[in-house]
Amino acid sequence: MNNFTYHNPTRLIFGKGQLDALPKEVEQYGKKVLLVYGGGSIKRNGIYDTVLSKLEEIDAEVFELPGVEPNPRISTVRKGVEICKNEGIDFLLAIGGGSTIDCTKAVAVGAKADVDMWDIVTKKEKATGALPFGTVLTLAATGSEMNRGSVITNWETNEKHGWGSPYSSPKFSILDPENTFSVPKDQTIYGIVDMMSHVLEHYFHQETNTPIQDRFCESLLLTVMETAPKLLDDLENYEYRETIMLSGTLALNDMLSMGFRGDWATHNLEHAVSAVHDIPHGGGLAILFPNWMKHVLNEENAPRFKQLAVRVFDVDPKGKSDYDAALEGIENLRKFWTVIGAPSKLADYDIDESTVEEMAEKTVIANPEFGNFKKLTKEDSLEIFRASL
Ligand code: NAP
Ligand code: FE
Repeated sequence: MNNFTYHNPTRLIFGKGQLDALPKEVEQYGKKVLLVYGGGSIKRNGIYDTVLSKLEEIDAEVFELPGVEPNPRISTVRKGVEICKNEGIDFLLAIGGGSTIDCTKAVAVGAKADVDMWDIVTKKEKATGALPFGTVLTLAATGSEMNRGSVITNWETNEKHGWGSPYSSPKFSILDPENTFSVPKDQTIYGIVDMMSHVLEHYFHQETNTPIQDRFCESLLLTVMETAPKLLDDLENYEYRETIMLSGTLALNDMLSMGFRGDWATHNLEHAVSAVHDIPHGGGLAILFPNWMKHVLNEENAPRFKQLAVRVFDVDPKGKSDYDAALEGIENLRKFWTVIGAPSKLADYDIDESTVEEMAEKTVIANPEFGNFKKLTKEDSLEIFRASL
């Protein structure tokens, strides 16, 4: 593996009743707090009221940025930046899933920038600082609660890009599995697919001697696959929610990628699809990941796929070539996602051939080639999208 430095500055506060820690955590950053949240789930499930009462304990002056969209938009980020600059906000608190947290990261960095935040998202400009922010996670999926990444969409240009900076890690994240009890079944499924996809993105890399990282990835996948069907039958089961919540965080807090860079082509492909069609991130990944695997699988890299197939996807390798065992593993991943209720074709979102060219073009906006396990071009995107129709 490569040399590496691991430093994750986010304080993870996990478990039942941990919202009690909120006043003490926020207090150290100042009184003017901007609450950032989505379309209203936190009002329906009572988390909003609980947070407000916790902030009252420290006499915080509360401002609000509501209405963050799933697939958060740069227009909403700009609104938040304006509030921060006009009101002299000291601290931002995201309450929600990955979209709310990603939006908060962009607002926090934008508030300290002299340039438009979209130029930082598209890497034309560099982040120079950020307001401090924390999160109260309400949906297990992205890992955004303990990483510095963020994904923002621009509907004027139909682009969706991931970005990150040394300033965009939350100061703390409060994860109470009970706060995910109200996540509906479909969003729970998307979250499960997203966290499994993060592990899979890590698994496919070009470094050698990563046995610990391999086993970490495999154990996370096995645990999520064992727990997911039980959780989907029993959405308010504390222990299943707890296991899935911790899995989502560990799947993308950089712990799995010590000493190498994962592939990330499938996330780039998915961002291109949802930049044009605004579909749920996890739904897009469920469609695309097995097709990316089939597209890049060859005789040379088959042993890596076979290892995953045998260790995680229950494939008996006896009498099979590496290639055939690998293919069977990919089929079993597809079957698992289908059984839990994830989509398998772009047609499930009414996406047809008519936008394939446009989506493929989006995959190479930032770079003519993408993916670290195997370099892909626009031609590859076209083939993968067509195989996914
Ligand atoms: P999300 O878009 O944050 O939320 C999806 C839906 O779930 C929203 O409608 C939300 O409703 C609802 N919801 C959230 N918590 C709920 C609860 N406790 N009860 C009921 N409903 C709840 O979903 P996400 O999958 O976490 O985030 C997806 C975004 O993250 C995408 O833009 C994706 O590209 C990005 N992403 C980021 C990273 C990263 O590392 N930063 C990694 C992967 C993906 P309300 O709006 O009403 O709250
Ligand atoms: Fe993701």
